[in-house]
Amino acid sequence: MIEDKNQTRTSLTELGEFGLIKHLTQNFKIQHKSTIKGVGDDAAVLTITDKHILVTTDLLIEGVHFDLSYMPLKHLGYKAVMVNLSDVYAMNGNATQITVSIAVSNRFPLEAVEELYEGIHLACRGYNIDLIGGDTTSSTTGLLISITAIGEVNKEEVVYRNTAKPTDLLVVSGDLGAAYLGLQVLEREKQVFQVNPDSQPDLTNYSYLIERQLKPEARKDIVKLLKDLEVKPTAMIDISDGLSSEILHICTQSKVGCNLYEDKIPLDPQVISTCEEFNLNSTTIALSGGEDYELLFTISQEDFPKIQANPHLSIIGHITEESEGVNLVTRANQLIKLTAQGWNALQKE
Ligand code: ADP
Ligand code: MG
Repeated sequence: MIEDKNQTRTSLTELGEFGLIKHLTQNFKIQHKSTIKGVGDDAAVLTITDKHILVTTDLLIEGVHFDLSYMPLKHLGYKAVMVNLSDVYAMNGNATQITVSIAVSNRFPLEAVEELYEGIHLACRGYNIDLIGGDTTSSTTGLLISITAIGEVNKEEVVYRNTAKPTDLLVVSGDLGAAYLGLQVLEREKQVFQVNPDSQPDLTNYSYLIERQLKPEARKDIVKLLKDLEVKPTAMIDISDGLSSEILHICTQSKVGCNLYEDKIPLDPQVISTCEEFNLNSTTIALSGGEDYELLFTISQEDFPKIQANPHLSIIGHITEESEGVNLVTRANQLIKLTAQGWNALQKE
């Protein structure tokens, strides 16, 4: 599995809190005009524009949300940024700044925190994000990381979850289920490794799944694509907890029903083959797996021609009246009521 090949271990106490913050943040460059002051004072200073400001936070805890035995710290840093950016894009906005707060135990040397920040830096460069602040403190055991993302959206372009309308089409970007299967593959390899530390796992058949688990990409490109196509979704949400749970959020909050077609759910060939190998139902995995960070949205029927042939988008269903309920239409043309058995942060041990 992933070993710590970095032999140098510098204690965090050698640098002190301010030395550490300076060391970690010195290479980050400010890109946005709206950032007046970033790291270094008591508070960051942003300037308000005529747009709406979007603010979102996620807290990730070692042992609950990630396992460092197969999640390299660089990937963790990258993913922690992605999960926040994904929420900003799900409002049809653009992410501009983040703050990063960490609590680290003395188990982590400076080199480990540097690796975490390498991932954060990579994400900031790739998505044009300013790191503008945070907090650094100690923890008695594990690692905690909390990121807040700030974004902006033109007032007339913001998209909420509660505005889907009957007859709208239900659309999803990319494909589903791969990140969850990637986690299953990594968990399996961890167990094999615990029994036989000399084993060399061959993960080539699962490369896409593992990439989706360890290096997810927030769909900034889809927000741009929709703008280019001149499609404004009627409602939108990002898929963090599984398709089923997110559809239910849109439908409950919009007071509508939905028919989701099983045969339309986009699946990567590796998802299909790995489900066969693990004896899992690929529809269940797509519905309940989670961590896909794709965008799920509804569009008005008149926009259908604009997205119809787009390879990044799949039309998977349509919105109905609330009284019709939220259903999966199976390949055998049976109607099954959708329930939110999705991955739930509070249930996961
Ligand atoms: P204060 O004690 O006034 O709260 P800090 O000493 O915690 O300030 O932080 C000093 C500066 O460094 C602030 O700009 C803060 O936002 C930033 N900062 C602190 N920790 C981090 C971190 N982990 N990542 C990025 N910036 C940080
Ligand atoms: Mg502080």
